[in-house]
Amino acid sequence: MGGISGLPVVDHHCHLAPSGEGVGAVRRFRAAGGTHLFLATQNYEPRVPLDLEDYRRQFETTERLARDVREDAGVGVLVVVAPYPVDLVGAAATLGVDGALEVHRRALDLAGRWVRERRAVALGEVGWPHFEVAPDLAAASRQAFRHALQVARDADCPAVVHSPDLDAAGWSELEAEAQRAGLAPRRLVKHYARARRAPEPGAGVVPSYLARKELFEQVLPDPGPWFLETDFLDDPRRPGAVLDLATVPRRAAAAVRRSPSAVELLAGPFLRSVEEVYRLRLDPEGGVRA
Ligand SMILES: [Zn+2]
Repeated sequence: MGGISGLPVVDHHCHLAPSGEGVGAVRRFRAAGGTHLFLATQNYEPRVPLDLEDYRRQFETTERLARDVREDAGVGVLVVVAPYPVDLVGAAATLGVDGALEVHRRALDLAGRWVRERRAVALGEVGWPHFEVAPDLAAASRQAFRHALQVARDADCPAVVHSPDLDAAGWSELEAEAQRAGLAPRRLVKHYARARRAPEPGAGVVPSYLARKELFEQVLPDPGPWFLETDFLDDPRRPGAVLDLATVPRRAAAAVRRSPSAVELLAGPFLRSVEEVYRLRLDPEGGVRA
């Protein structure tokens, strides 16, 4: 049986690349007790995508990686696709801001179709650059993000947000954006959360925490929904740039060794949060049920 103490063990955000370690990294994840990965697409080519065909090819590469991982490593993979928010900046240099925004919107529409066809479970990453950009690009990024939220609403799926670190005002603003688009804030997940967000009763945008040791221990008792992730990049040129793919199962196993009652707490990020946000049920064998 996979998992830890009968639980699925889930990394909520990682990337794999055909040029990277790929299935080898996932075997390490599985050997440590991991059962499911949320695999986010990324640009696999040296230049920024400039048309819809570029994005179609990119999403298909992600789908192929997911299939290889399922077959060769026996791990459940949930595919997440969208044009990377920072692509807009690179594409604008060639296409102009309006042209780049148009390609971006069409790529978001394509991602929405993939969700409706059940080739993906969510839109991601969507959001805006984590660095300062010119005002026209900032405005275009905001428009792209709003379009992404509408696509998620129409496809009835979660959206996974890429953004700078958020303060309390930033979290509220994100929640307001979701509400404005008619998307339940519970369907919006802020990925790469690096500090604990105090749990609030009722609606709220969901944090996906970077699985650093101190942060993990801090948030473990929180009722959630919340997730754990490594944001593994699978880039051999940048080893150690992010957490290793085996980190989430190792943290989970260590918590259970310290205190067997941690199993109940870990059912939060690994089972209940996935059910609440994604409406999917994961089993410790790597299975996924709607
Ligand atoms: Zn990422």
